[in-house]
Amino acid sequence: MPELPDVETLARRLRRRLRGRRIRRVRVLTPSTIRHPDPATFSRALRGRRIVGVDRRGKYLLICLRGDLTLAVHLRMTGDFEITDSGAPVHRHTRVLFEMNGFHLRFIDLRRFGHMDLLTPRQLQRLPGLSTLGVEPLGPQFTRIRLREIVRGHRMGLKALLLRQDLIAGIGNLYADEILWQARLHPARATGTLREEQIAALHRIIRRVLDRAVRRLSRYGRAVGVFLDAREREGRCPRCHGPLRTGRIGGRTTFFCPRCQR
Ligand SMILES: [Zn+2]
Repeated sequence: MPELPDVETLARRLRRRLRGRRIRRVRVLTPSTIRHPDPATFSRALRGRRIVGVDRRGKYLLICLRGDLTLAVHLRMTGDFEITDSGAPVHRHTRVLFEMNGFHLRFIDLRRFGHMDLLTPRQLQRLPGLSTLGVEPLGPQFTRIRLREIVRGHRMGLKALLLRQDLIAGIGNLYADEILWQARLHPARATGTLREEQIAALHRIIRRVLDRAVRRLSRYGRAVGVFLDAREREGRCPRCHGPLRTGRIGGRTTFFCPRCQR
């Protein structure tokens, strides 16, 4: 399931290829992928339109178009974009096909939970899920003081807090586990019990984990962390080598080390 590092890497890749390019034609193969407007209006509005940039906000991919329109895409479980030759066979899970000059941009989505909205600036500001997003953890506004305000202002379990998109945008289940393991904090630990230096460490680790994942993803095509790697490989803690524990915490399947994380 794509999280901030995955969407950021995709945004960078698409930005390099798409900026300044014109969309010749759009074919909607799965109408339910388009939430707004209706698929026919969607295709018509995009025909001949030039792409001016590609951005990310939280887990949303934003394709910015001339004429002040934004294509807001959420990949959900399995959504992804592929750039292919115009003549390449169309993969059966292709949902939307953008014909460009000399190549195709294809939206592939096995599970079909991904969706896109074509929006004016005003509509974009009101898009549920996007308009309510919290601070960008890799952005300049995510300071130690900001995290402290977030932690002190919400009484809840730490993992649940990290997953709240309206507080900090873009962290999902996998990276929340990695961050908490690196910070040696139990996922169910109550926010109210954190000491100042633990908040400072958590702030540093959130940025470091996400930043490294973005860099490793763009370099090797696979993002992982120390903890996620070990969890997949042997199911043991890479620090104390004890067995990991799993449970439902913050509403999600969670892995942690009962010895190292308090
Ligand atoms: Zn451990």
